[in-house]
Amino acid sequence: MRKKIVAGNWKMNTVFSEAETLVTEIADSLDDVELNGAEVILCPPFIYLEMITDVAFESNFKVGAQNIYPADSGAFTGEISPLMLKELNVEYCIVGHSERRQYFQESNEFLKKKVDALLIHGLQPIFCCGEVLPEREANQHFDVVKRQLEESLFHLAPAAFLNIIIAYEPVWAIGTGVTATKEQAQEMHAYIRQLISEKYGADAASETSILYGGSCNGKNAAELFSQPDVDGGLIGGASLKSAEFIKITTSF
Ligand code: PEP
Repeated sequence: MRKKIVAGNWKMNTVFSEAETLVTEIADSLDDVELNGAEVILCPPFIYLEMITDVAFESNFKVGAQNIYPADSGAFTGEISPLMLKELNVEYCIVGHSERRQYFQESNEFLKKKVDALLIHGLQPIFCCGEVLPEREANQHFDVVKRQLEESLFHLAPAAFLNIIIAYEPVWAIGTGVTATKEQAQEMHAYIRQLISEKYGADAASETSILYGGSCNGKNAAELFSQPDVDGGLIGGASLKSAEFIKITTSF
């Protein structure tokens, strides 16, 4: 049975005191709500990971990072390795977010290296894919997503692929307030599952969690998550407001 997941991507937000307040509010609320089997993951900025993994130890959520550099150690000033995250009990890492593709020119080929580096250390990649608006308008969105999966993930052996979580994030929906319709989300999620089935078989496809991301909030989450191939969400802006984030985690 694939997991239902709600992951919060805090991006480059919160100062330490705000991060402490936010994680405390989320942890306290998670004690009181029914998650219906869903897993909650928080992905804060690197410098809060230690504090947040300490809170997670006594709470009902897991911790992910937002990025890594694909090497264990070495002369890579300013970078963080998967080995460092592993020692902090970080279990997940976002890879291929559109902001990293856009602002840091991360290519499918480079993201493939990040995926491999995470898997070597037993961290689960939350692999983001999705098209920009002109690509959707030109009806190229299926080809774009296919290529992202083929070039960054489909080199994996079948056993390794089972550790991948996919997040479909249409770039035109990220941080814009414009959400994909439930039909648009379902159509792409079903397509992604079909691609996985063709490459790794029907069992692998049905075991893979495919999350939706892009202006998902407390109001639209239930409708999106009700779709048969939408297994939860990767949440940006709405993950910074504890009450709204908790509402999303209980939207299954
Ligand atoms: C994201 O950054 O992954 C995201 C989905 O952002 P938002 O929810 O703010 O659109």
